[in-house]
Amino acid sequence: MLIFRKPLQGVERPQMPADVVIVGGGPAGMACALRLAQLIDQHNAKNPDVQLSKENIYVLEKAREIGQHCLSGALLDPRSMRELLPGFEKEAPLDAEVSKESVYFLTEKSKFKFPITPPPLRDHGNYVISLNRFVKWLGSKVEETGITIFTGFAGSELLFDGNRVTGVRTDDKGVDKENHQKSNFEPGYDLQAKVVVLAEGTRGSLTKQLISKFDLAKSRNPQTYGQGIKELWEVPSGRIAPGEVIYTMGWPLTTREYGGAWIYGGKDNIVSLGFVTGLDYADPRLDPQHVLQDFKQHPFVAGLLGGGKMIRYGAKSLPYGGWWAIPPVAGDGWMILGDSAGFLNSQRLKGIHLAIKSGMLAAETAFEALQKNDFSAAMLSSFQRKVENSWIKEELWKVRNFHQGFEHGFFAGLFHAGVQQFTGGRGLRSRYPGTPGYEHLKKLAELPANGGAEAHMLGAAKGDGKLTFDKLTDLYHSGTKHEEDQPAHLVIQDTNLCNTRCVKEFGSPCQNFCPANVYEMIDDAEQPNGKRISLNPSNCVHCKTCDIADPYQIINWVPPEGGGGPNYDGM
Ligand SMILES: Cc1cc2nc3c(=O)[nH]c(=O)nc-3n(C[C@H](O)[C@H](O)[C@H](O)COP(=O)(O)OP(=O)(O)OC[C@H]3O[C@@H](n4cnc5c(N)ncnc54)[C@H](O)[C@@H]3O)c2cc1C
Ligand code: SF4
Repeated sequence: MLIFRKPLQGVERPQMPADVVIVGGGPAGMACALRLAQLIDQHNAKNPDVQLSKENIYVLEKAREIGQHCLSGALLDPRSMRELLPGFEKEAPLDAEVSKESVYFLTEKSKFKFPITPPPLRDHGNYVISLNRFVKWLGSKVEETGITIFTGFAGSELLFDGNRVTGVRTDDKGVDKENHQKSNFEPGYDLQAKVVVLAEGTRGSLTKQLISKFDLAKSRNPQTYGQGIKELWEVPSGRIAPGEVIYTMGWPLTTREYGGAWIYGGKDNIVSLGFVTGLDYADPRLDPQHVLQDFKQHPFVAGLLGGGKMIRYGAKSLPYGGWWAIPPVAGDGWMILGDSAGFLNSQRLKGIHLAIKSGMLAAETAFEALQKNDFSAAMLSSFQRKVENSWIKEELWKVRNFHQGFEHGFFAGLFHAGVQQFTGGRGLRSRYPGTPGYEHLKKLAELPANGGAEAHMLGAAKGDGKLTFDKLTDLYHSGTKHEEDQPAHLVIQDTNLCNTRCVKEFGSPCQNFCPANVYEMIDDAEQPNGKRISLNPSNCVHCKTCDIADPYQIINWVPPEGGGGPNYDGM
């Protein structure tokens, strides 16, 4: 029987007072901590009699080491970093400056190069980086300021006093598979905070609690997502120059699915490549890891990679919904930043600079709140205003309808994108509605049994072990590890639904969209359809796709014991 992680009751927990708790040490959380430290240092230098302390400001990061759970393309638009740390280029780990871009439309065997690079995909002046190394460096800057980063600690619950957020509970450690305390049990801390800053990245688990408790998604478009599958390759020299950027559209997707690929040339003949598939496809048998394997078999891509070696793998979802899907970002005792809020420009496939800027604006708000000792919704809503008056809004407003324009396929999307380009992002109406991605999934009975035009990307990829890989081989290259003896952190509200309805209606899409083979339907003669759901939670790479894409919305991803997860290096 599956037993799921749940908060343990009746446990005495250490209480720890805090001024600011930042949940998540990615670009948004680290920028927030660093900017807050800068403001406090400046204040203290000018006001020797009214000092503010940095001692009670904490960053919680679920990874064992800073940056280990960060995965991105990644091209860095340096705009916000230049505001945060002028001259950062001199010391940050930047692999190459972008020197050349090209965009292709692929068919199965051919490629068509766009005669000019569409403006949103022009990347001159941006840098190829490894996000996890970049965040590690940013984290070291935070630590130099004296702010404490607790690595290996996940925020597992928000604490409330009525409608006010009063803190964060960290994960319980040493809980066995049956939710019993082991001999090494350590209860999670209750960090009693004046303000909680949620910077958990895509589909944040505490952010989800908050959005649901206060119905923050009301009157917003539903958030929509893509799933990025990435591999890092070492290729023979001369294949792609450091700083060369290639984007592709088309194959292996058909005109019904949304998505595309990137290929970025880094230093030392390392190539970052990956495929983002919109999590709003119709066929539940589609497997995004398979899509990447198909993509690599295109003659153009195979030519780039041939003779090379895949060295790393990872996956992560990203929020696509844009401006209309962003919830209110501040309230009584809380703020939401970065991907957790949905600050991502899906047209440019870029969110790092926006995450950093939102972190800076949240820090400025927290600083004002600390000075006035006022953490009320009225005070913190100045973060909302700061975002709306900043270049975050300027950038996102221009693409506010972009992804929704593609809801009815590639050609309709190109048409809407064209009209939006000439109307400052408006298009045919001021606000295009959106549909949650999982609502696009069709039941098997409505789809061709042989897969039709999508057949090539359905089900598990086999892999030849050289250019293409099955999931388990890929997964091995993510370095993922968890404590095995712990309850499952993929909390399925009703496994009966998996065994009776989903297997028949949708063919158990969790087996396909999970990039880490966590979900399996195993034989069980006692079940009406002869199959029962089984989980391998220790494979999980924390991409959050299952929480987003399951058709019945019964999977809740909660943080496993802190320290577990992928070990991304160079991703
Ligand atoms: C495949 C892919 C390609 C991309 N390419 C680009 C690109 O080329 N350029 C670009 O600008 N953007 C790109 N993006 C987007 C970019 O990576 C994100 O916008 C950016 O990383 C968001 O930063 P963040 O700090 O909000 O979240 P994240 O980078 O996701 O960081 C969140 C951190 O919080 C931690 N965390 C989460 N929950 C908890 C919890 N409960 N307790 C403790 N810690 C927690 C996580 O472990 C993680 O370290 C890409 C994204 C993907 C998925
Ligand atoms: S279990 Fe969910 S979060 Fe974990 S890797 Fe699979 S889809 Fe991603």
